[in-house]
Amino acid sequence: MSGAEPFPEAARVSVRNAQLRSNLRHATHTIRAKRAKAVAELADWGRLRAAGAAIKDRTLRHLDHYLEQLESAVTAAGGQVHWAVDADEANRIVTRLVKATGETEVVKVKSMATQEIGLNEALAAAGIRAYETDLAELIVQLGDDRPSHILVPAIHRNRTEIRDIFRHEMGHWGRPAPEDLSDSPAELAEAARLHLREKFLRAKVAVSGANFMVAETGTLVVVESEGNGRMCLTLPETLISVVGIEKTVPTWRDLEVFLQLLPRSSTAERMNPYTSTWTGTTDGDGPREFHLVLLDNGRTDTLADQVGRQALRCIRCSACLNVCPVYERAGGHAYGSAYPGPIGAILTPQLRGTASALDASLPYASSLCGACYEVCPVAIDIPEVLVHLRERVVEGGSATRDGARVTIKPAKGHAAERAAMRAARWAFEHPRALRAGERLASRTRGLHPTRLPGPGAAWTASRDLPRVPPEPFRDWWQRTHGGREAK
Ligand code: SF4
Repeated sequence: MSGAEPFPEAARVSVRNAQLRSNLRHATHTIRAKRAKAVAELADWGRLRAAGAAIKDRTLRHLDHYLEQLESAVTAAGGQVHWAVDADEANRIVTRLVKATGETEVVKVKSMATQEIGLNEALAAAGIRAYETDLAELIVQLGDDRPSHILVPAIHRNRTEIRDIFRHEMGHWGRPAPEDLSDSPAELAEAARLHLREKFLRAKVAVSGANFMVAETGTLVVVESEGNGRMCLTLPETLISVVGIEKTVPTWRDLEVFLQLLPRSSTAERMNPYTSTWTGTTDGDGPREFHLVLLDNGRTDTLADQVGRQALRCIRCSACLNVCPVYERAGGHAYGSAYPGPIGAILTPQLRGTASALDASLPYASSLCGACYEVCPVAIDIPEVLVHLRERVVEGGSATRDGARVTIKPAKGHAAERAAMRAARWAFEHPRALRAGERLASRTRGLHPTRLPGPGAAWTASRDLPRVPPEPFRDWWQRTHGGREAK
């Protein structure tokens, strides 16, 4: 997917789709209003948010220790731990584990990590069919589509579109939808329930992700609203969980903080309907085999970046997507990765690097308004990371890739920006020249164009060029002593 077209080109297509914009606007505005209400109920939300950020930062600082503790605890509880350095290795491990069971079908709990690595496609290539069981993921899968939102992957579809997808596609995947299916939410949910029920009862293998992993006991946690996850986690004989290493929390007391932050930020609920926890295997209860695949896939490289590493605090609540004016218009597909919206704009270029045109364009998929930072329950300063990554794209420099320090070359297509920044740096380092330039600009202000020529033309196509004042600020300050003698 990293070879896809850059964000501006992809977004150009989606902003012309009036139906998509209307679906997105309706959904994001509804969720954001509910979230604001749910958060306002807690007087100590600010302290809870600070605690969440601090716990994540401390865990990330000592991640090596907590991962080893987690591995020991999972193993002691009867599970098996596998380490995957990248997507290919994770896919190979899961494929091998499924093949070892002799099965050719798996049921899946909604999981961003498995989307990130393209697990469904890898399993399909090995002759194994993966069935998504989350309602929105089911809609995406049946529609041969891609998710466009972290929490509501089919946010770009309305009820009529969903009814048509169910009517035409369900029969190809299992139990068909009723011929007279209407677009009422209750009928759509019932059709999905019946279609999925037969898969839950038949499946011998399930694949999940996890929202959190508690190192002290080796417990995995899935937080969900529909109950499909609970079915996948308890009915099949073999459970394989693919989880990013940053999902670790040290203790159950730490988990308590996130179980308050996550539901209010994502679904605007005080408490989510289903919280499933499991620790290894238990005789006569749940899966007989449990495998945990710990996924790196660029996370250790991200951890090496002092500014960018805060992206690993993310608990995938999607609050930043729902307030982002760019996401609201462009939709999730334009980001070309499993992670859309503001978090995708900072996480994807760190996990994948900025070598492709798409990944180098993502840090620019923002107006830097800061709304994402305001709502983030773990206080990720997304604008700060965006600016940091823009600098890397324009100037290049040192970064960690595949565990080694490398020098990134400046990306193509930013020559004008680079030249402007270098000129600005030179001017600020030479105050006399800066002052002379300011005076010259003031004296010639009548001759200045209102639109920029050449590469700057696009910038002024939708903005007015700021007018230069008749007198430079520092001259005015000197003349009036900061305004005290101004007439
Ligand atoms: S960056 Fe923050 S607001 Fe966005 S999904 Fe992650 S935790 Fe939620």
